[in-house]
Amino acid sequence: MRVLLISLLFVFSSHLHAEFINIGILNSKSVQKLSFSVRAGKYALFTEQGKVEEFTSGNNVTLQRVGELIEVIADKKSLGKFKKVNLMGTGWYNHFMIKSLEPPLLDRRYDDNLRVKVRRGKLLLINNIDLDNYVAGVVEAEVGRKPPKEYFKLQAIICRTYALSNTSKHLEEGFNLCDEVHCQAYHGKSFYPNIVDAAMQTRGAVIVDSDIKLITAAFHSNCGGQTVNSEDVWTKSLYYLRSVNDTFCLDKRNSFWEKEISIPAWRGFITARNSTISDSLPTSYVSDKRENDFLYTQIRFEEFRHHFKLRSTYFNVHPQEESVLLKGRGYGHGVGLCQEGAMEMAAQGYSYSEILHYYYSGVHIIDLAALDFFKEE
Ligand SMILES: [Zn+2]
Ligand SMILES: [Zn+2]
Repeated sequence: MRVLLISLLFVFSSHLHAEFINIGILNSKSVQKLSFSVRAGKYALFTEQGKVEEFTSGNNVTLQRVGELIEVIADKKSLGKFKKVNLMGTGWYNHFMIKSLEPPLLDRRYDDNLRVKVRRGKLLLINNIDLDNYVAGVVEAEVGRKPPKEYFKLQAIICRTYALSNTSKHLEEGFNLCDEVHCQAYHGKSFYPNIVDAAMQTRGAVIVDSDIKLITAAFHSNCGGQTVNSEDVWTKSLYYLRSVNDTFCLDKRNSFWEKEISIPAWRGFITARNSTISDSLPTSYVSDKRENDFLYTQIRFEEFRHHFKLRSTYFNVHPQEESVLLKGRGYGHGVGLCQEGAMEMAAQGYSYSEILHYYYSGVHIIDLAALDFFKEE
């Protein structure tokens, strides 16, 4: 059953066909009624009764939930109520706009196809989309339009690798990935040429480890000058997520932070975790490299970060009169690729391949077709 579901939901085809993926969209919004309009190409309406109608840019289509069914209204005329609605692009380039009317939301545009069902009292909306079109949308949602062009290519490869290694995350709900940060942020179609080009120029490229398995392509905003071994943050040791020194991210927006913590709060946290420390409360610490435990307390920096909601685990401590001042470096967990460092490398002319190999030790960038080949072995 599971195998069947996977093969139905995710067409892991040869390169004769594009790879398509199913993304649950607007699922936390509980959409009851929406308008659909064609922005490019043509669309055919398929339901459990077969092909019902064709739409072009002039048509005004509304879908609304009526109990367990979806009523389709085109240009004020009802076409009937259906269990399944599939709006399939039939032109060579298709994209559409949807606007939720209940609840009222801003409109969004998407590439390729829209599938709709009723699930748990709401419309279940699935964007059935070419993998690379999806990747372009994710890159724009995740990093915006500011980074250098070469950077978009490596972010595209990272997002593609993540998507393909997480296709079962929402299978129970009937799609592969959601459109929120739980999976990857995705707000619909990218209209920015540099991002669309980057997704297309790296079409099919993914990152694999020495066993030809898709890697955990971890990234964070800024490492503060040194990235972190995976096992220091998560328990799992992955050979390609090694600590590297990074001089590229040192004068960026997220390079430094400060936070003042009162002595009672500082003392309370440390003594609650290590009762042997009462008189010898450490209030001073200076190190120019990352360490796991804070001095002799046997408390991991990760625990400080979590408890005090710090931007990173990489900080020095300076005593003040009634507080300690933490002076920190970087932003995020520090594992894998440092985004601000990678952006600087791209700006200095490094290629996406050089940058990926800098942050992920001993990985390979291969084409999906090769991945299929190894899978079949
Ligand atoms: Zn998700
Ligand atoms: Zn860095």
